[in-house]
Amino acid sequence: MIRDPFASRRDSTPPADAAARRAAPAVICYPTHTLPAPDMAAYRAARETLSARETIVVPPREAGCFEVPAGWFFRIRSIEGPQVGDLNLFNARDRSERFYSGKTRALHGTHISTGDRLWSGFPRLRPMATIVHDTLAWYGIDADGGAVHDVIGTRCDPYTHHLLSGGDNYHHCCHSNLTRALARHTGQPVANVEAEIHDVLNVFMCTGFTRDTGQYFMKASPVRPGDFLEFFAEIDLLGVLSACPGGDCSSTHSSDAARCHPLEVTILEPQAPPAGWRSPHMNGYDRSHGM
Ligand SMILES: [Zn+2]
Repeated sequence: MIRDPFASRRDSTPPADAAARRAAPAVICYPTHTLPAPDMAAYRAARETLSARETIVVPPREAGCFEVPAGWFFRIRSIEGPQVGDLNLFNARDRSERFYSGKTRALHGTHISTGDRLWSGFPRLRPMATIVHDTLAWYGIDADGGAVHDVIGTRCDPYTHHLLSGGDNYHHCCHSNLTRALARHTGQPVANVEAEIHDVLNVFMCTGFTRDTGQYFMKASPVRPGDFLEFFAEIDLLGVLSACPGGDCSSTHSSDAARCHPLEVTILEPQAPPAGWRSPHMNGYDRSHGM
C-alpha cells in the first residue's frame, strides 16, 4: 500500500466559519512600488554599445566561474540544446556578501525576469545584478502554474539525493559542481568553500508548485539554443554557474540519466556605464548597522 504523505495534514476539525476565513483577501507582503527602480532605459541604451570581452563554456554536469566588473554586463546563453543552469553570485571583493534567493523571491516573486534584481543578504541587502533582457519572457505563467527562472528551488545536491534514495552520493549535482568550481577558482580545499555555496537562481528552469499538494515541480524547459538571460552587474561580481545534471529538467536529476548540454557565459563591456548609474564601490555605499 502506498503511504499518503499528506494524511496528517488533514487531521483537524474545520470551524463553522472556515469558508469565510479562507475568503480573507490576499495582501502582497512586500509591495515593491517604493523600491528604488532601475533605470531600464539607461540600461537598454548601454546594451546597444556592448563588446564581448570574454566567453566561457560550462560543460554539462560541471560548473565554471567568471568575474564581471561593476558596470558591465553578462549573458547566459543556451547553446546546442535545452539546458538548465544553477547560478551563484558573490561580491567579488568580499564573498561573505552573496545572493539571497529567499529575499529576492519575497520581493519579486517566485520567478524573475527583465527589470527584476538579484539581492544580496544582510546586512547589505542591495542589488547585485539587474536582469536586462530575457528571451523567455514570452513564457509567462502556464496552466500548471509553471514559469521560468525560479528562485524557489535550492540546487540539486548529493545529500538530499541520498536522503530520498539511500543511494551513493552523486557528485555531479549542482551543489557539488558549484563547490568544486569555487574551490578551483579560489585555490582553496573543497571543504573550506562548500558552506559558501548558496541557494541559486535556476536559469531557464521551468518550475512551480502543484495546486493540490503545494509541492515543488519541474517540467521541460522551453529554452532553445540561442535563448539567453542577460544581467547588469551592479557590483563587482564573482559568478559560478552549473550546467545541471537534469539537462532540461523534464524528467530526472541527480544522476547521469538526463541528456545534458553546455551553457555559455559572455562578459560584455559597454562603451560607458548606463547614464546616471554610479558604482557602489566608488562612493563607499554600505548600509551595515554595526551589530
Ligand atoms: Zn541541478
